[in-house]
Amino acid sequence: MADWNTLEQELEQLKKEGRYRPLTVWESGSNAWMTLKGRSVLQMSSNNYLGLTNHPRMKKAAIQAIDKYGVGSGSVRTITGTLDIQHYFELELARFKGTEAALVFQSGFTANQGVLGSLLGAEDVVISDELNHASIIDGIRLTKAHRKVFAHKNMDQLEAALQASAGFKKRIVVTDGVFSMDGDIAPLPTIVELAEKYDAFVYVDDAHASGVLGKNGKGSTDHFGLHGRVHIQIGTLSKAIGAVGGYVACDQILKDYLIHKARPFLFSTSQVPAVTATCFAAIRVLQQSGDLIEKLWENATYFRSKVQALGFNTGMSETPIIPIIVGNPALTMKFSDLLLQEGVFAQGIVYPTVAMDKGRVRFIITAKHTREDLDFALNALHHAGRQLSLI
Ligand code: PMP
Repeated sequence: MADWNTLEQELEQLKKEGRYRPLTVWESGSNAWMTLKGRSVLQMSSNNYLGLTNHPRMKKAAIQAIDKYGVGSGSVRTITGTLDIQHYFELELARFKGTEAALVFQSGFTANQGVLGSLLGAEDVVISDELNHASIIDGIRLTKAHRKVFAHKNMDQLEAALQASAGFKKRIVVTDGVFSMDGDIAPLPTIVELAEKYDAFVYVDDAHASGVLGKNGKGSTDHFGLHGRVHIQIGTLSKAIGAVGGYVACDQILKDYLIHKARPFLFSTSQVPAVTATCFAAIRVLQQSGDLIEKLWENATYFRSKVQALGFNTGMSETPIIPIIVGNPALTMKFSDLLLQEGVFAQGIVYPTVAMDKGRVRFIITAKHTREDLDFALNALHHAGRQLSLI
């Protein structure tokens, strides 16, 4: 008789290793303080960097769009699922990113799958940072392209891989703009220089850089002044932009190609128009409120320096993503649990998301955290860290 024995064994093994993670069910929307089991908890792990999820302009835009368009788009983009609001949003997004065109996907994950999956063929080579996001890895796996992986941010290895790739039709170097587990920034200027030297395309996933890096949060290309030299910029609408969705900002010819080839674009219903309206409003908010991004960075700098002063290891962090490296998976989850007892939610992240000995509790600082919130978390960190002899 068919049964789930093998699954049960795998789950038991996860429990033994302290890696079993039931879902946390929240009783309020994404905010600095959220309700968990009837209790108010300081939340320090969401990607809602600028607090836009609850911005009044965005909520109003969504409600108006529901009144006008209803709650769904009714089709994939290529049939009746390209509504005027979606068309104009893509024009606005391209203007914002400083590219010829932009194309929206249902999520950042499917943007990576759609773009990499359709762009790379058996005669191409993709050269990828070892710490790139899972959606990049999966996007590459969908293709028959030759793969090379360079050690994290190791530019000598990247150059060696490029040197050895002359025989391929297309060479594409792929990197996260900001690395999601470590909070460090890719060395994009060097990557661009090397790519130019060896006639390669540059592909950057700015999921954690959108709304965070660059003028008005335009991303890592803008941050480094590399406009026109990065060929493919992926972004999400799911993190700092506060809603959900993904996009590619690129040349018009690539957009045209993707409209005909990218499978998640072709075969999955388009974004809910109220979500598009929300993202539209968010781009406007970003352009008008530099103070939100300033506050985000001020909070991140303050928190990181205080965490380090307590004696914790924040690894390579240089953005609002601030991991505290613990190591052992079980100890990592225990640290996260203790913090929750103190009223602070910070997600423990363990293998296979990170290496087995690199378990960490990852803090994501937002513009909506007050100085009092940050001090509250620091106090909790002090207690929990001492209790576990981490500091
Ligand atoms: N790329 C990176 C670097 C990410 O961190 C994420 C989100 N975890 C994604 C892509 C996927 O984005 P989304 O949540 O919009 O699917």
